[in-house]
Amino acid sequence: MILSGVVWEGKSNFISPLDCYYTPICSGVGPVADVENLVQVLGGRVASLPMKYLGLPLGARYKSKEIWNPILEKMERCLAGWKRSYLSKGGRLTLIKNTLSSLPTYFLSLFAIPASVAHRIEKLQRDFLWGGLGDEFKYHLVNWSTICAPIQQGGLGLRQIIPFNQALLGKWLWRFANERNAYWRQVIVCKYGCDRDGWHSKEVRFWVDRWSEEGLVRDAFPAIYQIALHKQATVSEYLSWHHEDMVWSITLQRPLQDWELREYTDLMAFLYHLKIKRTVVDQLRWPCTTSGLFEVRSYYRLLTSHNTTHFPWRSIWQSHVPHKVAFFTWLVAQGKILTLDNLRRRGLWVLDWCFLCKKAGESVNHLMIHCEYAKELWTMIFCLFGVSWVMPQTTYDLLHCWRRKGPAYVVWNAIPSSSMWLLWRERNQRAFEDAERHSADLKLTLMEWTAAVSNRSFPFVFAFIDGCV
Ligand SMILES: [Zn+2]
Repeated sequence: MILSGVVWEGKSNFISPLDCYYTPICSGVGPVADVENLVQVLGGRVASLPMKYLGLPLGARYKSKEIWNPILEKMERCLAGWKRSYLSKGGRLTLIKNTLSSLPTYFLSLFAIPASVAHRIEKLQRDFLWGGLGDEFKYHLVNWSTICAPIQQGGLGLRQIIPFNQALLGKWLWRFANERNAYWRQVIVCKYGCDRDGWHSKEVRFWVDRWSEEGLVRDAFPAIYQIALHKQATVSEYLSWHHEDMVWSITLQRPLQDWELREYTDLMAFLYHLKIKRTVVDQLRWPCTTSGLFEVRSYYRLLTSHNTTHFPWRSIWQSHVPHKVAFFTWLVAQGKILTLDNLRRRGLWVLDWCFLCKKAGESVNHLMIHCEYAKELWTMIFCLFGVSWVMPQTTYDLLHCWRRKGPAYVVWNAIPSSSMWLLWRERNQRAFEDAERHSADLKLTLMEWTAAVSNRSFPFVFAFIDGCV
């Protein structure tokens, strides 16, 4: 028999006192006698399982895919609205991060998500990120695992659903071990039993539990573990106290051999260097945070550890340019914008030439750095700032070495993104609209932009130049 209190009847996402009311719901787990009479006494109504309680399915099979349908429907509803409005990639990314990714979080913190549902949710996010106004085909320029990497490692910081789900559920394992008297814990222990009195116990095993920062004692001292008398011995069996001093006595199957002495001495040195507080109760410690307390974020990081690369993320995301320009610079750094060589890699037959200089073949690095047209722009920039600079081979290296620290370099730091965006826009105008601008026009536009970045007004070009040098 379930008697529940608050019933959520509102359709809005925002909690308002008008949206909910209090009504007891009576629902039987199995047949309940006199349920109708009971309802009359309580003034509620009868419901049957499965039903919705606090927005969650109650009584449904927890592995069922159907329980995820409301989430998927909600996502599709959001997307249908957004798809009709013109949004830049930067805007789409913000919407995914702030809204789409957080929609399933409540469910993810309580249920293990079936892989097929996780893939469907990720596909919805992916298609929205790379999609256009309608349903026409669009290339997905960067693979999903790169996008889900942290920003510092070259990704966009989106979450992979399955590891995020595992990290959120990990919180329950932590709480199970620490919330000894919680009612939900007692229900689980009654139903399934509990091995060794849970994980939170004074019965920490010396050899096979991880109780020191060095890892398992068994792994650190394998030869001694082999001859230990009790492999399951607890720390308290080996440790005794003489006044305030620790006394360790490890029981072995036989006397030590000469070749085992070294390891035994190391083990003793290790044990006597440990700091053990005698009066403090044993507790679990999460090794991934300095506080020793569990954090979903740290567990997620652990589950999705990527190779640490030195991606020039500051040059991209911390320069004062619009979000869509930063997103474009990120694509350039990944070498994934749709230049002609990239189109050929995707199987398209296109003529290999450069729209800007009309000579060499078009690649990301040529277009942005080595093209004669681009070179003119870069030369002007170096003249303005009074620096001599040897351009690196790749845009990735350029972004790496360009950035300078401090507020005086706001304009300088915004230049690579602005120049590359301008070059790309010019290239596309030539490719699709047959309109050509002289490089001098581009230089003037760049000056105007950089003046805007610096938050100062530069009425004349010369004043701007003075301001930069
Ligand atoms: Zn060129």
